Amino acid sequence: MKKLLTLLVLVSCFACEKSETADVILYGKVVTVDDQFSIQEAVAIKNNKIVFVGNKAEAEALVGDSTNVIDTNGKMIMPGMHDSHCHPFNLGNDEEDDFFRVSSAKNFDEMVALIEAKAKTLQPGEWIIGGGWNQENWPGKQLPVHDKVSAVTPNNPLFLYRHGGNSAFVNAKALEIAGITKDTPDPFGGKIYRKENGEPTGFVSNMGNNMVHKHFPKKVRPLEWYMEKYDNAQRICHEAGLTGWTDAGIYPDHISYQKAMVDKGLLKIRSNIMLQNPREGDLEKHFSKQRILNYGGEEMLQVRSIKMYYDGALGSRGAALFKPYLDDPHIHNNIGNTEVPVEHVYDVAKAALKTGMQVCPHALGPRGNSEILDAFEKALKENPVEDHRFRSEHAEVVYIDDIERMARLGVIPSIQPTHCTSDMVFMYDRIGEERSKSASPWRNMIKAGLEPACGSDFTIESHRPLWGIYAAVTRQDNQGFPAEQWHGEQKLTIQEAIKGYTIWAAKAAFWEDKLGSLETGKLADIVVLDTDILDYEDPKDILNTQVLYTIVNGEIVYERKN
Ligand SMILES: [Zn+2]
Repeated sequence: MKKLLTLLVLVSCFACEKSETADVILYGKVVTVDDQFSIQEAVAIKNNKIVFVGNKAEAEALVGDSTNVIDTNGKMIMPGMHDSHCHPFNLGNDEEDDFFRVSSAKNFDEMVALIEAKAKTLQPGEWIIGGGWNQENWPGKQLPVHDKVSAVTPNNPLFLYRHGGNSAFVNAKALEIAGITKDTPDPFGGKIYRKENGEPTGFVSNMGNNMVHKHFPKKVRPLEWYMEKYDNAQRICHEAGLTGWTDAGIYPDHISYQKAMVDKGLLKIRSNIMLQNPREGDLEKHFSKQRILNYGGEEMLQVRSIKMYYDGALGSRGAALFKPYLDDPHIHNNIGNTEVPVEHVYDVAKAALKTGMQVCPHALGPRGNSEILDAFEKALKENPVEDHRFRSEHAEVVYIDDIERMARLGVIPSIQPTHCTSDMVFMYDRIGEERSKSASPWRNMIKAGLEPACGSDFTIESHRPLWGIYAAVTRQDNQGFPAEQWHGEQKLTIQEAIKGYTIWAAKAAFWEDKLGSLETGKLADIVVLDTDILDYEDPKDILNTQVLYTIVNGEIVYERKN
């Protein structure tokens, strides 16, 4: 009897749910990104969930007195986009006044002049910390040497990140503080570039950076200061159509700032956080302690993956290759460098498999990717876990054998389409035409059955996912260069690019049952675009597309005015 009663209550509840009205109903061209990539006319939201996707006539039955009906006049409605690899704090902190930017310098001498002017405003001993230079944009493309700069900054240590953040330019004062001389050996996983006489040039890469930036003065800021930065970041993201981010590596202090935002109901973007890997200590204990699923109960925040650096970047010739770079004037036979021994990747993978964590190493070059797969393979053999979803962050130059191995092992490539179109300008110089055929090998990945998760790596590239989609389907920069498309045979289709920012991004974050497509029962993360990017005429239309609405968890968090 009791059973029957329960059943009756259940049945009547289903009935009342059906007759309930929706909070928000959107009419337009609904690109659902479901298994059939089906197109519908309406999507209805109740609370934070999608309660209906289908035709307009049926949706009308859900309109009540308080329903917000948004008729977009046939505009494209799609799942909210997720950036699978980005750095939100940097985006929100972009305007920080004590970060010294030199991106306006068109050559080395202009950078020296900027530094000289800056030093004049400082007290002796104060650090100049900043970045934004890239020798690739200067005539001659030479890496800077410190002497000229050191002459105008005798009393102030200087540390300027190169574009990308994997390497830096420092002056004599900073070298002195870090104790780096001609007798200092290169640290493991880093390089101190040297003049012919062995003296440091001031250019340091990867773990070489670390030797200097560990001497930065520590700053104490209130919680509110950090929350404001993350709030800035989410607002910028909403305007671009992002409803989720994968924060690619933060320490527990920054995790606590985002958790505080969830506690206060202020986090309005899904935050999939990668824990920055500690290099030492009891990994299993640390991972178990930091692992968080569904913080706050509405899937706004989780910590279930580990970010670590394995190799470097191609721009600074740090990405790990099998054969040397073709254009390194400083280091003979440079094959790039790895920041940690491959055994450490194995140790992290092993601890992650035991604690339900996903491992996401930065692996950019072909050797970098091959070696992390070796470590994954060994760890998985010893601790077989079906659904580990280990990833390769960037997977930028990967040979076909390793792409097939990724598919076999269940490793997800996390790609950044705009890195392809930024790096294409120096790719032939660095690794030649033959190896470049394996650069951003997206079609090879798809053929192997992989589902690449897409992101931007902002603030290294623009945070705009639509720019990423454009780069993915054109392999051209925003000016349409090169006209013939850079290795266009590897580009994605528009459907694949959309999946990369929606359902495949959700899968890479273990969120595909709740997010990534517009289907009844899923959480209501939705964007409305002013252009039908699925059926574009000119790819440039994708670049110029405006976001009209961004909805996160059923709430309209951005609406375009005018
Ligand atoms: Zn990154």
